[in-house]
Amino acid sequence: MGREQPVREEPPVSDAKMEAAVLYGKENVVVEAVPLPPVGPGEVRVRIRAALTCGTDLKVYRRGYHARMIVPPALFGHEFAGEIEAIGEGVTGWHIGQRVVAANSAACEKCFYCRKGLPELCEDLLFVNGAYAEYITLPKRLVKANLLTLPEKLSYEEAALVEPLACVVRGMLETDVQPGDTVAVLGAGQIGLMFTRLCTAAGARVICVGRRPQRLRLAQKMGADAIIPIGQVEDVVQSVRDQTEEGRGPDRVIEAVGLPEVWEQAIAMARKGAVINLFGGCPANTTARVDTSRIHYDEVTIKGTFHHTPQTVRAALDLIADGTVPAGEFIEQRASLADLPAVFRSLLNGNCAVKVAIDPQADPTGKW
Ligand SMILES: [Zn+2]
Ligand SMILES: [Zn+2]
Repeated sequence: MGREQPVREEPPVSDAKMEAAVLYGKENVVVEAVPLPPVGPGEVRVRIRAALTCGTDLKVYRRGYHARMIVPPALFGHEFAGEIEAIGEGVTGWHIGQRVVAANSAACEKCFYCRKGLPELCEDLLFVNGAYAEYITLPKRLVKANLLTLPEKLSYEEAALVEPLACVVRGMLETDVQPGDTVAVLGAGQIGLMFTRLCTAAGARVICVGRRPQRLRLAQKMGADAIIPIGQVEDVVQSVRDQTEEGRGPDRVIEAVGLPEVWEQAIAMARKGAVINLFGGCPANTTARVDTSRIHYDEVTIKGTFHHTPQTVRAALDLIADGTVPAGEFIEQRASLADLPAVFRSLLNGNCAVKVAIDPQADPTGKW
């Protein structure tokens, strides 16, 4: 008995493959053939032409996971640019071959925080990973919110800086840097360097605190007026204050390291009434101490900035395109996709290139 089952045709399963980096866990990334991601309705598949290494990826590689962004085994990498290679049903306004860059997430536009105009705090923030691959398929939501066309003169690798810069652009808005301000930027990694550049462009004087001489030289190139090499000064807080008017402390402090002890230094060094942006994310379950009088009697504002919004993603692309942020200066080395595991090993072992550009279409260089 029973109803006759309708004959159902299985959707054709493509056995097309692509090369991609897969993160399997702590310090374990493998480049291997994986299924080519299909393109569903509303989606767009991009042939990746440049993917950039990032401090967050290095952190994920070292720890083996990222609570919000990536749980292994998973495709890896989140800063990329390329050209549209396939377009899903119902997608309009884009064409095959179009040069594009995308951010790594999109908000839902429906939840409590999205309705409050805080998309970065979206309760259903959709992350994409898989930039270290020949292709990536962008979900419908991302195509709608955070896919942008590349200006003609911009290279793929320069454009791929959009994602981290979009976070920094938001940090700038939150920190309210004014012309004539003295800003202490703690950290001379990619984030600290981008803050240094944008603060300088905003007419502020920047004191950059960092460790590696190579990075501090780059900070000067980005416009830092003073640099403070950690390890060569006894007291970082005092050294920064010594560089400010009558030792009062900086008007703005931006922490771009992500360590509780540096958060504490940031809070300690600011002048009265300062804004302190604790931008660097610390390891989970850590705490930092705050002298209560700093908040009450000294009226300092302590805040954090996490992630970007569609507005700051667009602003970031403009800042790269108009040369305000010289993206090329951040890309210090280049490698092929096959080189990726060796690139991450080298980054773990002291290679301090700000960014390594991975070209998934290139042949292995053999030099890594
Ligand atoms: Zn990143
Ligand atoms: Zn939402």
